[in-house]
Amino acid sequence: MNWKTSLNPELVEKIAKIEDKIQEKRAHVQEVALNNQNKVLDAFRHHNVNEGHFQFSSGYGFDDLGRDVLDAIYAEAFGAEAAMVRPQIVSGTHAIATALMGVLRPGDELCYITGEPYDTLQEVIGITGDKVGSLADYNITYSQVDLLEDGKADLEGIRRHLKENDAIKVVGIQRSRGYALRPSFMVSEVKDMIDAVRSVRDDVIIFVDNCYGEFSEEVEPTELGADLMAGSLIKNPGAGIVPTGGYIAGKKQYVEMSGIQLTAPGIGVEEGAMLSITPTMLQGFFMAPHMVSQAIQGAIFTAALLEEYGMKADPLWTEDRTDLIQTVEFGNRDDMVKFCQAIQHFSPVNANVQPEPAAMPGYEDEIIMASGSFVQGSTSELSCDGPVRAPYRLYIQGGLSYEHVKLAITHAVNEVVYGS
Ligand SMILES: *Cc1c(COP(=O)(O)O)cnc(C)c1O
Repeated sequence: MNWKTSLNPELVEKIAKIEDKIQEKRAHVQEVALNNQNKVLDAFRHHNVNEGHFQFSSGYGFDDLGRDVLDAIYAEAFGAEAAMVRPQIVSGTHAIATALMGVLRPGDELCYITGEPYDTLQEVIGITGDKVGSLADYNITYSQVDLLEDGKADLEGIRRHLKENDAIKVVGIQRSRGYALRPSFMVSEVKDMIDAVRSVRDDVIIFVDNCYGEFSEEVEPTELGADLMAGSLIKNPGAGIVPTGGYIAGKKQYVEMSGIQLTAPGIGVEEGAMLSITPTMLQGFFMAPHMVSQAIQGAIFTAALLEEYGMKADPLWTEDRTDLIQTVEFGNRDDMVKFCQAIQHFSPVNANVQPEPAAMPGYEDEIIMASGSFVQGSTSELSCDGPVRAPYRLYIQGGLSYEHVKLAITHAVNEVVYGS
């Protein structure tokens, strides 16, 4: 049966129109993927990846050649001196916390220059939560340079703040918007921030939270002067097939300090059994440029189609992208909830689950979320969520294939707009 049979004819017509309209934009995203695939393939070739690297490792994990080559490939593809890719890193938050705690010492200050950091990082820093084990608990202070009204970085303010605060040891930059309203930062904007920092201080460590960003553009922050960067393998660089893990990449010395934080002094990056995950992590990284491009093309389709139906999409379908996140404003509770439920019903896993708005610890409003993913909580797989309050904005992210995103979004529109 043709997939369009169950759709309203007006919707079918609009889809055809949208596909024409976004073709050129999609072609650009495919070109980015081609260059990233080339970069990753080169790294695999240079390091002569072979079956010997796929061995199981146990116990201390000494002399694990697969782990070493995985680290080396991440480092090369990200233009970094070194990298550490580990299943022992449990999430993006853990990767970021490990990097920050690896390089900060009591009396130092961490300064975020992209405004308020991602929710979970606020607990790591010690500005929310009970502070136990946070940076604040270790007498590491925190300051922040807020964004300008238009959501851009305050380059002048950054220079001024850094000049006036000698204690600042690490400068934090968050590339993706996460769940904030501000736009995500293109890598070129991250570069402007790095230049602003360097124009007044060459002794600070520039750290980038790269979650959601990997391979959405042709360069990564570490290629443009960031000293340290971290991310999650259940987002972009795991391509949806890696079941757990995180990475830290950057200057060798800082990656090693992060390794000591993850394990123990004297051990650092030299130990840690990979069990049998290495081939999956290698394959995930190899497939990541393609998966990221599929998700981004899906986001462009989503934005274009929902704009066509009068909803407010951010980014617009025409805008350049630096992560996998698409937001859409529905303007009313009913449509938002129905749309989210439809996304769940068109997921490969848990399709029969009915998401409902519910209170969540730590949030003021009810939250609704749809996630029918193979890997628990994976946001490189198609999922959506948002607070159920005006303007009823859903964060829609991920997608392992363009086809899945197109099917799910189209059927969701069919239900919300045409009630079938
Ligand atoms: C997802 C994300 C994180 C944290 O990742 P978890 O794996 O959920 O802990 C941090 N920063 C940003 C910008 C993110 O998108």
